[in-house]
Amino acid sequence: MREILVISGKGGTGKTTVTASLSRLFDRIVLCDCDVDAPDLHLLLKPRKEERFEFIGGGKAKIDGEKCTKCGRCVEVCEFDAVSDSFVVDEISCEGCGVCVWNCPVGAIEFKDAVSGEYFVSEIKNGRMVHAQLFPGEENSGKLVTEVKRKAREVAEKEGILDILVDGPPGVGCPVMASMGNVSKAIIVTEPTVSGLHDMKRILNLCEQFKVGADVVINKAGLNSKKTDEIRKFCREKGIEVLLEIPFSREVNQALSASAPIVEYRPEGKVAKAIKELAGKIRRR
Ligand code: SF4
Ligand code: SF4
Repeated sequence: MREILVISGKGGTGKTTVTASLSRLFDRIVLCDCDVDAPDLHLLLKPRKEERFEFIGGGKAKIDGEKCTKCGRCVEVCEFDAVSDSFVVDEISCEGCGVCVWNCPVGAIEFKDAVSGEYFVSEIKNGRMVHAQLFPGEENSGKLVTEVKRKAREVAEKEGILDILVDGPPGVGCPVMASMGNVSKAIIVTEPTVSGLHDMKRILNLCEQFKVGADVVINKAGLNSKKTDEIRKFCREKGIEVLLEIPFSREVNQALSASAPIVEYRPEGKVAKAIKELAGKIRRR
C-alpha cells in the first residue's frame, strides 16, 4: 500500500485544488481529508456518504448540584476558568484536563466522554473518501487525524485498493505531525511568495524530523518569477526535487466557483495538463 501526503505548511497555496484533481487521475483510490478543522475537499468531489462514525475527543466535567457543597475548590484549580461562581461547568471552555475531578472533596464532579466530531466513509467516482469534521470549539484535531488515517487504511485493505492520497492539514502543528504517520512520500505544494517559501522551509524541516521523503510542486509558478527562482535554487541546493511547476491561471478560480476539480472543469487547460503530468510522474514511481 502506498500513502502519498499532500501538504503545504500554510493555507492558500492551492493544495486542495491539486489533491482533488490528482485523486481523479488514479484508477482506484482511497482519498483521506485530514483537514478536519475546515474540510473542503468534499465541496469539489461531492462524495456520497455511506457510513458515519462519532469521534470521542476527550471528556468534559459535569458538576452534580445535589452532591456539591459549594466549597469553591473546582473554581480555584481550573486553569481554564471553565467553572462559574455558581459551580456550573462551561462545556466550551472545559479542556477536559480532569483536575477539578481529582480535587473535589466530595466526588461531585463526573467526567464523561464527549463526542467532539464525526467522520465518514463515502463513495467517490473512483474509490472511497474518508473525511471528518471537528465540531466548533473542539480540540484534539491531531487525534481525529490519526483516526481518519486509520480508517482510510482499513477501507483500502478491505477494498483491495493500493493507493491512499492524503490531503494534509495546513500549518506545521500537531495535526500535520499526525498526518505524517505511515506516509510513503510527501508532496509539498508551495507558491512563489515570501510566505510560500518560508512555510515550505518549515514543512521540509518537519518532514526531515519525521524522516518523510518530500518533493516539491510549485503552484502558480511564474506569478512571481524572482520567488519562483528562489524556490528552485533552494530546492537544488538541498537536493530536493521540484516535481512540477503548475502555471498560474484564472481557470483555477473558475473551477472553484463551479465546485469542480480543474481536470474535469477544463481538462485541456494548462493547469489540468500540468496536474496530469504530475500524476504520471507519481504513478511511474
Ligand atoms: S470542588 Fe466539588 S464540592 Fe467543591 S464546589 Fe466544586 S463541585 Fe462543589
Ligand atoms: S476538567 Fe479541567 S478544564 Fe474542565 S472544568 Fe475541570 S479543571 Fe476546568
